[in-house]
Amino acid sequence: MKFRNFPIYRIEWITSTFLIVTALLSLTLVPWFIWTYHAQVEGWGLVIALFIFYYYATGFGITLGYHRLFSHISFKAKWPVKLFVLLFGAASFENSALDWSADHRIHHKHVDEDEDPYDISKGFFYAHIGWLLFRLKPKPPVTNVKDLEADPLVMWQHRYVQWIGAFVGFVVPTFIGWAYATLNGFTSPWLTATACFLIAGLLRTVVVQQGTFCINSLCHMFGRQPYSRDHSARDSGAVALLTFGEGYHNYHHEFQHDYRNGVKPWQFDPTKWIIWTLSKVGLVENLRRVSDSRILAAELKEKSRTLGMDIDKLASRLDQRTRELKAKTIATAHELAKDLAGRAESLKELSLAKADVSGETMDELRGLLNQAGELLESLRRADAGSAA
Ligand SMILES: [Zn+2]
Ligand SMILES: [Zn+2]
Repeated sequence: MKFRNFPIYRIEWITSTFLIVTALLSLTLVPWFIWTYHAQVEGWGLVIALFIFYYYATGFGITLGYHRLFSHISFKAKWPVKLFVLLFGAASFENSALDWSADHRIHHKHVDEDEDPYDISKGFFYAHIGWLLFRLKPKPPVTNVKDLEADPLVMWQHRYVQWIGAFVGFVVPTFIGWAYATLNGFTSPWLTATACFLIAGLLRTVVVQQGTFCINSLCHMFGRQPYSRDHSARDSGAVALLTFGEGYHNYHHEFQHDYRNGVKPWQFDPTKWIIWTLSKVGLVENLRRVSDSRILAAELKEKSRTLGMDIDKLASRLDQRTRELKAKTIATAHELAKDLAGRAESLKELSLAKADVSGETMDELRGLLNQAGELLESLRRADAGSAA
């Protein structure tokens, strides 16, 4: 595209300026300030504590609030929880809960299609941040958040979101820094206040935003797909570490109404842990969970598909001798792929009918799933060996 033909009228000026300026200042002004004034600033303990508090509060505002509560209604929350996530969600500067949820519901409905607001098929940059900098098409009218429009707290936040964000995200931490320094008789309270503004306000905003953006970009490109390959979403433990547990995106796209994203006990999903804890003290309720049997059915189906597709591909690449040696493994893998498909189907039917599936059956099926994984692994090793 020639530069003079660039559709300037499609640039989102305010959003672009905010995103670019905050990112540039975080990379230049913040390190310069720390380098120059680290010795003069008193109260670094407070500055760091505020950064950590704001990082988690605004992060959970998005993951627990905007995402799992408002976009997916995966649980119900009492007003104190709603108010908290609306205040700190605004301070993450990712738009109002209403707008965020509207975009996100379209993302799930039309994932990887042209209507998907952060469609990964338009490239990593577009899915990560490009879609916020310029619009390829005019924004469609918002029609998919009627339930949220009926909530007065959500609508109050929607109306004043930029003011709430500026106040909670920048004014409050700056004021806390100044008040703390004044009460403690520090020589220069404004220096402590500036450190709080730059680190708990500015730098924290950029870090939390980039984390959220990684879900739309990295988690639609890199990682495993144990539940379905029907869409580009992937599970990434590394991204989960940066995003309060939202990295298990393959599971999430398959079962979007589950309040858990990291569904396995060993997966890092602090957002899930907090929702569960809040339910124990009565602040949230009606947590929605997909049954273990339904999840296992999805895993079995996907594994049978992977196995079916991969055996022939791998076998065709093996040299004559390795293929003969592995003939039995290949035949077993073929049989297992067929068996798994049938078992996945009947398990899914049982789970949809809410029928009880015995522990032994579940264990047996998990055993088959592992066996399929081991077979694939052994064929991959043979392939690597024969290529060497
Ligand atoms: Zn997604
Ligand atoms: Zn979602």
